[in-house]
Amino acid sequence: MSEIPDNHPRAESLRIRHRIIEGMEHNVVAKAGLIAHGRGEAFDYLLGEKTTPPARKAIRAAAAALLLSKYPVISVNGNSAALTPKEIVELSEVSGAKLEVNIFYRSPGRVEAIKEVLEKAGAKEVLGVGETADGVIPEISSIRRVVDRRGILIADTVLVPIEDGDRTQALRKMGKTVIAVDLNPLSRTSQSANITIVDNHVRCMPLLVEEVKKLKNASKEELKKILEEYDNQKVLGEILELIRDRLTEIAKKGIQDY
Ligand code: ATP
Ligand code: MG
Repeated sequence: MSEIPDNHPRAESLRIRHRIIEGMEHNVVAKAGLIAHGRGEAFDYLLGEKTTPPARKAIRAAAAALLLSKYPVISVNGNSAALTPKEIVELSEVSGAKLEVNIFYRSPGRVEAIKEVLEKAGAKEVLGVGETADGVIPEISSIRRVVDRRGILIADTVLVPIEDGDRTQALRKMGKTVIAVDLNPLSRTSQSANITIVDNHVRCMPLLVEEVKKLKNASKEELKKILEEYDNQKVLGEILELIRDRLTEIAKKGIQDY
């Protein structure tokens, strides 16, 4: 990888971009994944490339929801596997959630390539590959319906990082609790999930792992209370207000920290 100087104002963003490009070169990320990443980056720019206080609330609620679930599943696509393989596996271990490769563009070998990335990161069981990947999500057409009958099909809670709106809505219609990670607070995914973490997947995954570890010994009542007090629409509103206020400030004074 060509050297990115540490003092480059977009150094971290460029390093993350490079992971996506490498993922594409290894058949892990789809071409459309590059475009999805760019859309995410644009929203991250508006957020100031930081995890915001409302995103922290969503992370806490997500941790509580995962711990309260009977059968949680982490849905893994090319982008999330390329960006945070270790954290995905760690989250699965600390929360007891199963891992399922679930992708939009099922080109030959891609499911297997993603599975391999997860196994290299320490995953012992990866669903969504092989003969049990024959369940279907009703209401979605074509190949995108396919889910694992030992995984998403029977899950009560599904974590869907960097997901498309149709699938998010279909999972909701199946009665599942959906936790989304999406930098765009306006996307259909963000608007229709039960809990939306509006943050970069790269920043939020280590925080989510930590939060699950912290709450692991909390009582069921405490966890339920966190969920009862959580209001996704309100949190999304707080994110939009935060963006608005930041832009108003920048409009007046320019960006101070370049
Ligand atoms: P929707 O289908 O939900 O209305 P969309 O069609 O605008 O959304 P998709 O390409 O279907 O977008 O899904 C990709 C989503 O993932 C985008 O909303 C994008 O902002 C988000 N995204 C991309 N990269 C990241 C990332 N690193 N972290 C968090 N979110 C990301
Ligand atoms: Mg979409």
